[in-house]
Amino acid sequence: MSNEKDVTADEPSNRTETDELLECLVAVAAMHHHDATREALVAGLPLEEGKLTPGVLGRAATRADLTARLVKSRLSQLNPALFPVILLLEAGRACVLLNLDLKNGQAEVIFPELGDASSIVSLSGLQDAYSGQAAYVRPKYRFDARGPEVKKQRSRHWFWGVIRENRKLYRDVLLGSMVINLFAIAMPLFVMNVYDRVVPNAATETLWVLAVGIFIVLCFDLALRLMRNAFVDLAASRADVKLTSSIMSRVLGMRMEAKPASTGSFTATLQSFESVRAFIGSATVVALVDLPFVVLFAALIALIGVPLVIPIVVGAVFVLLYALAAQSKLHELSETTWRIGAQRNATLVESVGNLETVKALRSESRLQGSWERASAFLSRTAAQLRLVSSSVTSVALWTQHTVAVAIIVIGVYLIIEGDLTQGGLIAAYLLSSRAMAPISQAAGLMAQYHQSSTALQSLNDVMDKPIERVEGKAYISRPVVRGDIKFDGVSLSYPEAERSALNDVSFRLKPGEKVALIGRVGSGKSTLSKLLLALYQPTSGAVLLDDVDIRQFDPMQLRRHIGYVPQDIALFFGTLRDNILAGAGSEGVDDETLLEALRLSGLESLVKSHPHGLDLPVGEGGSMLSGGQRQAVAIARALVSAPTVLLLDEPTSAMDHASEEALKKNLTRFSEEKTMVIVTHRTSLLSLVDRIIVMDAGKVVADGPREQVVEALRKGQVGRAN
Ligand code: ADP
Ligand code: MG
Repeated sequence: MSNEKDVTADEPSNRTETDELLECLVAVAAMHHHDATREALVAGLPLEEGKLTPGVLGRAATRADLTARLVKSRLSQLNPALFPVILLLEAGRACVLLNLDLKNGQAEVIFPELGDASSIVSLSGLQDAYSGQAAYVRPKYRFDARGPEVKKQRSRHWFWGVIRENRKLYRDVLLGSMVINLFAIAMPLFVMNVYDRVVPNAATETLWVLAVGIFIVLCFDLALRLMRNAFVDLAASRADVKLTSSIMSRVLGMRMEAKPASTGSFTATLQSFESVRAFIGSATVVALVDLPFVVLFAALIALIGVPLVIPIVVGAVFVLLYALAAQSKLHELSETTWRIGAQRNATLVESVGNLETVKALRSESRLQGSWERASAFLSRTAAQLRLVSSSVTSVALWTQHTVAVAIIVIGVYLIIEGDLTQGGLIAAYLLSSRAMAPISQAAGLMAQYHQSSTALQSLNDVMDKPIERVEGKAYISRPVVRGDIKFDGVSLSYPEAERSALNDVSFRLKPGEKVALIGRVGSGKSTLSKLLLALYQPTSGAVLLDDVDIRQFDPMQLRRHIGYVPQDIALFFGTLRDNILAGAGSEGVDDETLLEALRLSGLESLVKSHPHGLDLPVGEGGSMLSGGQRQAVAIARALVSAPTVLLLDEPTSAMDHASEEALKKNLTRFSEEKTMVIVTHRTSLLSLVDRIIVMDAGKVVADGPREQVVEALRKGQVGRAN
């Protein structure tokens, strides 16, 4: 393996190309005076190769209080009243169309790669590049605090709102169902006429006419049923994509304070969306539509013979009463099932995630025991649940048959009395099963509904959790340039923690200052870093960056300028390169910067000596690398985006002496102009800093120039908090 191997030879070269669509959106936003930064527009959106795609343009536009609507239209047919409009060009490019002069065959456009200036181009040239799709981007009206809030307008429900978007489809489904129900009358009529008219008179011609007629009705019925199922499915899958992506973005945007304590049980909640999906995707939902037709069928039976309706009414009331009686039991059981399922999943995720530790500590039997107990309980309740819900459908079926028998018995008496024909009896029998079917279906639906409603309820709770990026809040959109950090009387209590982790912490770091944060375990050093990253918000006091409260920064924008090496390093499944570039954001990184980051972090030798180079897989969580290597990756990841502030939480705790020395040398060079905060226990790293802050029990107990604090520590003059 050659040591000269160029580690970035296969780096795709388009990484640093401009994202033209995004640039266009920024330009249009500025024209409408809705300024927004690139980070804020695409924060958390799924990009392709780091670029905005037309599919998510609308979501990006919402961030700047704009709406974007994609249209397929010829250039000449675009509506000039809605200019400027973004034109999608061939090969994923884009430009902003300001003006169209059809008479002279010219157009005024802004090409993002040429900056803000507009240029006049010939219409035919533009036509050639135009892909046929354009996006109208219009401002939404911005309410201020004086506009009284209307709850509905402020936020539509995440679930029902999306379902409502498909109301046209559902309307068609309803229409189809009605027609299907009307068709259902045809069969009993056919049979009745055959018995009463055709058979006594041997009228085979009439028979054939009737048969052809009923055959045509049956064909229409089939077509309608197929269409109805397809429409329900279409509506469900449309909603599915939207709903799952809104759930995911809610999860990713969640405030850390709101993060649930258990990963496993939380993921179980998210997966329970499947049962909601199955519910809205099943055609049984439309069974409710059939319910009113019970009355129609009953009325038809009454036409044939009034006493024949009595069994139907009694049967329907009985089934519905039984289903209602089962409700509370079903509700209770499905909630229990759901809770124990989530808890069991929590055990599973925790054990699989920490398999090494589990084995090393011989905790297998404890976990196995807790799994088995949960499983046994789960299967017991699940069986009960199935029993109760299947009893509802069985009782409904039993009733349906009993009603049929009753109708026949009553019918025979009516025939004897001469009030009913034989054909009438058969028709009434057929109609009775049609009348009872929707009732059984509704009863079955009630049983199924509980599982989904429990899932929906728990998803509701997730969707109600506070998120970091508040919609409609105008974040300031300027980069962190100086790196002037100020903690002003900051206190923080973690949710559900008894003691506050930070207690009235105040200090100020000048731009370019290098500071070490030291203190005993649990003194609040890592907490302090998390506050600076706005992962948590102070319970009282404020953190300021460049003299601006960090709550005013868009979180993405803020973190973009802080290079952070966490104490517990998590890498993502993928290659070394993926992990390093994970910190680079949407604007990408050129090869030179990447190489520099490798060199600074000490990863260069690993990359050069390994056959896979930068494509070395790191495994989930970085499990294929050593602790020190993981730290080096985290450092490269922090440096690659050229941050203004460096925040290193015990960056060398897993490194050997030589690696640490090399890193120290590199950091001295790299951090020259930057504000740097190092949390450390290693005295050797102290030579990197000019100032030391000592923390104890969430308080600052000493703060001063390095020599002075070291001296005071040596003499034992630094006290403890309380
Ligand atoms: P250190 O100085 O060792 O980095 P930390 O800042 O990590 O200490 O922790 C400070 C205190 O806050 C500790 O008492 C710890 O128990 C508590 N703490 C840290 N993280 C959390 C959390 N996510 N939830 C609740 N308490 C926490
Ligand atoms: Mg710590």
